[in-house]
Amino acid sequence: MPQSPLQLNADLHCHSTVSDGTLHPQALAARAKANGVELWALTDHDEVGGQRRALEAALDLSLPYLTGVEISVSFAGITVHIVGLGFDLDNAALQAGLAATRGGRRQRAMEMSDALAAAGIRGAFEGALKYAGNPELISRTHFARHLVETRACSDTQEVFRRFLVQGKPGYVPHRWATLRDAVHWIVAAGGMAVIAHPGRYKLTANEEYALFSEFKAHGGQGVEVVTGSHHASDFVKYTDMALEFGLYASRGADFHSPEESHVDLGTLPDLPAKLTPVWEALQHRVHQPA
Ligand code: AMP
Ligand code: MN
Ligand code: MN
Ligand code: MN
Repeated sequence: MPQSPLQLNADLHCHSTVSDGTLHPQALAARAKANGVELWALTDHDEVGGQRRALEAALDLSLPYLTGVEISVSFAGITVHIVGLGFDLDNAALQAGLAATRGGRRQRAMEMSDALAAAGIRGAFEGALKYAGNPELISRTHFARHLVETRACSDTQEVFRRFLVQGKPGYVPHRWATLRDAVHWIVAAGGMAVIAHPGRYKLTANEEYALFSEFKAHGGQGVEVVTGSHHASDFVKYTDMALEFGLYASRGADFHSPEESHVDLGTLPDLPAKLTPVWEALQHRVHQPA
């Protein structure tokens, strides 16, 4: 590790073709290495099917690796994401919990497709499925790619804005895991639970306080402070929240695709100096190259 662990180029949030990224785990490992990442985690949505490939590719490149996942959670009527880091891949309860969490995605995708058809966009299910590297994990991102390909919209941001967020024609509400279950699965598998990109949820101060308090009460220990999903002002705000709640801080690009993601692996600023990084508490969980 470098002199200060805060300056370690850790990137602990990204997606592969196993969920809604466009690169395979091995290609992501190579990209992380090429970008100077010194500790890496792949965090596919609700799925650990890419972990062994990511781990092996990372170790082949002499890149230390933490196991990772990003679990979809329903909390106070919205969807929040909880990242798990450093857990045991073979934990049966975690695997069963993730299978249950992703189980409704196909049905949801068919309902989204029907809703889009009612808005004049036909064949979206088949179109999205073509983009899904994992047929068990059809996500809104795959619909977005299909709608860009068919020129219904000019980019994925526009698809989300016009069709795929709450109140828009292709949005279908969905019941994900509970906050309690997601945190418990991760912690019981030996990992650390981390609130992903809190700046994205547009919660009121009271709701945010409830999220952080309940998360901690369930055994959650970390929060993403520096992420590609945050504005610079969020770095400041969530530094304060991490200190107030006594949480370890994480850093990760949330990289999905060279074409779509504006922040690449390993290119974010360092964590602010006052914080304690998650990797300090997870040293014993890091897979080190031989
Ligand atoms: P899902 O799990 O199917 O609800 O899809 C959620 C995924 O959609 C997120 O992980 C992001 O990759 C993507 N996403 C959500 N909101 C947006 C947005 N406004 N612009 C682009 N991608 C988004
Ligand atoms: Mn995603
Ligand atoms: Mn997320
Ligand atoms: Mn993500």
